[in-house]
Amino acid sequence: MYALAGKRVWVAGDRGLVGSALMRRLASEDCELLASPRENVDLRSSEQTESWVREARPHAVFVAAARVGGIHANNTRPAEFLYDNLMIAANVVEAARRHQVEKLMFLGSTCIYPRLAPQPIPESALLTGPLEPTNEWYAVAKIAGIKLCQAYRQQYGCDFISAMPTNLYGPGDNFDMTQGHVVPALIAKAHRARVKREKSLVVWGTGRPRREFLFVDDAADALVHLMKAYSSPEIVNLGTGSEVTIAELVEKVCRVVGFDGTVLYDASKPDGTPRKVTDVSRLAAMGWRAKVGLEEGLERAYAWYRAHPTLALEAMLERA
Ligand code: GDP
Repeated sequence: MYALAGKRVWVAGDRGLVGSALMRRLASEDCELLASPRENVDLRSSEQTESWVREARPHAVFVAAARVGGIHANNTRPAEFLYDNLMIAANVVEAARRHQVEKLMFLGSTCIYPRLAPQPIPESALLTGPLEPTNEWYAVAKIAGIKLCQAYRQQYGCDFISAMPTNLYGPGDNFDMTQGHVVPALIAKAHRARVKREKSLVVWGTGRPRREFLFVDDAADALVHLMKAYSSPEIVNLGTGSEVTIAELVEKVCRVVGFDGTVLYDASKPDGTPRKVTDVSRLAAMGWRAKVGLEEGLERAYAWYRAHPTLALEAMLERA
């Protein structure tokens, strides 16, 4: 067991979806929370990362900082998704080693698995086949991060671990209709359609892909659980083990938001990987399971969105 009590804990990426959920979750642990100021610590810079870690001296680190986005962002900004994520992973891991960080948790993603991996996807599927092309740049950077943790454990004895969260959503998400992931993008689109009394809502792809969704506060709870109880080079999936089609998700989002118009599918937009649901038996064996179901999670995400009127206003002003 690794005790967080009395420790300085740095959440790299504290303002992002996962980082802000980690800050909420860690507030109930008896530890000192550290957040690097975004204005003068760019984690893509090795000098800035190194000097922050040297000054702040964290005992434990969660690497939740990343260049992230939905299928369109990933597909159209390959250089940023590869470069930014490679640099963040390499800089944080190396600075953590130099300054004797006791424990580090690196966050990957289930898009690291091959496009046609067996379903539910076991952790052993890593590097067994070609990646999904719409997110391979992000995936390659995240695979490099996992390998850094394994290499630093092997060569230097660092207690660095990695977890692979499935598609996350919740408070603090990016609700941009073009750059965001499917859940926040659909919430924003359905909200706008309802408020503007539009007759239809356009969904990307065929509606047939299957995805698994984990509420971000559940993910943060699992990450803290692993930080305390897990120490191994083996990666761990973070998910619910259950899946829905995009069409089923759309139905649920429309119900939560109160949009009852027509749903149109734009098959000229990519579907991405056909199916993605994780095998969560490794996490379950450690006594952890998700608590927030999809309907409840969508309601909480929508409530957060509505409580941030500037986001909703931006969606109103954005052209379809
Ligand atoms: P992925 O899980 O890596 O493919 O990432 P996303 O969350 O961006 O997309 C999941 C699925 O939702 C894909 O099949 C998309 O085509 C589909 N989708 C449908 N409508 C939207 C939308 O408005 N935004 C996004 N990002 N995806 C959408």
